[in-house]
This record gives sequence, C-alpha cells and structure tokens, in this order.
Amino acid sequence: MRCPYCGSTATQVKDSRPSEDHTTIRRRRICSDCGGRFTTFERVQLRELTVVKRNGRRVPFDRDKLMRSIQMATRKRDVDPERLERLVSGLVRRLENMGENDVPSETIGTLVMEALKTLDDVAYVRFASVYKNFREAKDFELCWANSPARRPMKKISYHRMTISDRSRRGPAH
Ligand SMILES: [Zn+2]
Repeated sequence: MRCPYCGSTATQVKDSRPSEDHTTIRRRRICSDCGGRFTTFERVQLRELTVVKRNGRRVPFDRDKLMRSIQMATRKRDVDPERLERLVSGLVRRLENMGENDVPSETIGTLVMEALKTLDDVAYVRFASVYKNFREAKDFELCWANSPARRPMKKISYHRMTISDRSRRGPAH
C-alpha cells in the first residue's frame, strides 16, 4: 500500500484487527521511508456498483462518499461511530443485493433516509431536507456545501412547536 504522505511503497502492516461485528479488518500501517502512520480497511465487496445520477451521468459507487454524507447529517449528534459503520455496511449490502450493478442515486437517497429515520431524528431531517431541496444538484457533497447549516434545525423546532400546539388543544380526533 502506497504511503499517503510521501508516496513510498515501502509500507508495513503493524497491527490488524477485525471490527466488532467482524465485517471489516482494520490495518495500522507504517511507512518505512517517512515514518507516516495510516489505516486501511478491508471489506467484502459483492458487486461493482455504478451510481446513475438524475442527469444520466454514471460514477463508480464510493462507500467513503456515502459515509461522509451520513457523517455530515449526524454531525454533533451522539451517534456511535461503530454504529455508523454498521449502518453504511448494511446499506451497501442492500444495494449489492438488489441484483443490479447500476443503482439510481435516488434509490441510495431513499435507503439512506430510511436508515437515518431509525437512527436519529435530527440526522434524518438534515439529510432529508438537503436531499429533497437539492436533488437537482450534482451530488450530495455538493448539496451539503451549498446548504445553510442551520436550516434543518429550524425545521425541527417548527415541527416540535406544531406537536406541542396540538397537545395543548387536547387530544386530536
Ligand atoms: Zn511515507
């Protein structure tokens, strides 16, 4: 594995260990030339997936990119990183098991929203808001860059206000 700091290929594995659920092997590596340390992950890949965007553009599926979108949605929320890893692995496995190599970006967006709904309300609203408002944009990361960070929070408080207004008026029938 090439060193990300100096480009040398003289790197060695110092430590290997599986993740808690044994779906990933994490390897700590060290570069013999510059002493840089980095981590690599080994995972099962059942299928080579291609994302088909709404404009028809095709890009290779990128697990890291998916993880970054989800990390942004869960930012400053108390979500265990191991749980996020499992969530992303579960999503990828579902995509791979759909039986097609080509996956519409909308399918991914819908699956992510479903998964976040069960994980964390705020993360779900953040992701859903960005996903729905900026569906036309080229990809999620671009969307996030253009999105005012506080907007989803406003939506949440509005939602809560609506609920408490209703309860003050008594049970709805
Ligand atoms: Zn190096």
